[in-house]
Amino acid sequence: MVTIRMTRPKQAPQRTCVGCGARKDQRLLVRIVRGPDSGLIIGGGRVSGRGAYICPASECWKRALKGTRLEHCLRSSLTIENRAALLQYLSSLQESEPNGKIHTE
Ligand SMILES: [Zn+2]
Repeated sequence: MVTIRMTRPKQAPQRTCVGCGARKDQRLLVRIVRGPDSGLIIGGGRVSGRGAYICPASECWKRALKGTRLEHCLRSSLTIENRAALLQYLSSLQESEPNGKIHTE
């Protein structure tokens, strides 16, 4: 156990991206919360409940949606509607790719 004595500025809580597994400042990640009506609240930063965090990057969203990682984080399976909402969010991310960098496979 190493104790870091450096005084650092007040740090924002760190969260792990479901897609790439990187730990980042919570504010830099998109929060997904399971709503009461089995819907998903995407970007629900202030909503309480079990949530998952994903970078606002299409690659991370694709990875998160590929397996069951997101379902594990939310502790429930995704409905067809949930997946549709997530894919819709993913497509909005791809449209606004910062450097015009769009990967085609
Ligand atoms: Zn990520």
